Amino acid sequence: MKAITSIAGSAPLRDDADEPIAAILKVLGEGERFLVCSHAGPDGDAVGSMLAMGMLLKRMGKHADMVSADRVPIVFRALPGADRIQTAMRVHGPYDAVILLECDGVERTRLQGLESFFHINIDHHASGVAFADLNWIDREAACVGEMVYRLFRSAGVALTPEAASCIYTTVLTDTGGFVYGGTRASTFELARELVAAGADPIRIAQQVYFSTPISKLLLLGAALKNLHREGRVAWLWISQEDMIRSCAVEEDCEGIVNYALSTAEVEVAAFLRELEEKRVRVSLRSKGRVNVAAIAGRLGGGGHENAAGCTLDGPLSRAKEQIVEELRAALACARERSEGRNLIA
Ligand code: AMP
Ligand code: MN
Ligand code: MN
Repeated sequence: MKAITSIAGSAPLRDDADEPIAAILKVLGEGERFLVCSHAGPDGDAVGSMLAMGMLLKRMGKHADMVSADRVPIVFRALPGADRIQTAMRVHGPYDAVILLECDGVERTRLQGLESFFHINIDHHASGVAFADLNWIDREAACVGEMVYRLFRSAGVALTPEAASCIYTTVLTDTGGFVYGGTRASTFELARELVAAGADPIRIAQQVYFSTPISKLLLLGAALKNLHREGRVAWLWISQEDMIRSCAVEEDCEGIVNYALSTAEVEVAAFLRELEEKRVRVSLRSKGRVNVAAIAGRLGGGGHENAAGCTLDGPLSRAKEQIVEELRAALACARERSEGRNLIA
């Protein structure tokens, strides 16, 4: 099969993705058994888009297995079909294709045994890579769930309330509740269609934002004690000991970085978490001028311009210094650029 690669920077719900969509639907139409997976440490977009993709395949009369290296976070377990996502370290075929959702390579799944299959890559990250046999990367899509929605539309498959709920969750979580860059008129249009198709926005928001486990609140308390600010840069961290003391798990770290970004003065922020194996997981966020995907990319990670991540070597103190230095430098560059622009203007 000829590999098709589409890397678009196009607004959603337009037709310039016809070719990759047609190519993907052709592979889905011709095959029988598919594996659907996403990145390790799945977030709302990963879980919701996997479930919606599984539902699309089922409605097309296909067999779909959904596998994740890490368990589904508690806040997403009420999603329809969430209990069908298996947690595994290795997958076993046979599959006609593996669909990788929001991954920049097979390794991001942290699943073993994927190598020999036909790979379909559907992604919306700025750092997206055309690593697969078939690649559809739309950097302007608010979430991969939006791309799965377009597959439903193109396949002529009606959205069930269950599929609409899963896709609504991807839109809600990846836009931070319609807050982050990438939220545009078409995002609300999509949300409207999903609600019309049966997604309950209040129930989903309550499940995602008002079901916080106590362990997460304790962890947040520990992280806020470590909050530092220097001009427009802020950072906070948690040690392995904080994790143990709070009885926290990885998913409890989700969103903590936003607290460092939440004051008016701060423009870029980092959250660092000490991992068991003495590595340090870093989340980066920016309010606009600084491209944190570029920083994360240089350090072996990736993401979006305003939300990115990477993993550094420890110890924590060294990773902190390294990342703060990167943020200072990036901010100085961004400032120079905008001052230059002001001079010209
Ligand atoms: P996080 O800080 O983990 O919430 O990640 C922010 C964004 O960056 C998400 O869209 C992630 O999918 C992406 N991201 C995080 N870590 C990596 C990585 N190592 N490689 C590529 N993308 C990443
Ligand atoms: Mn994700
Ligand atoms: Mn996403």
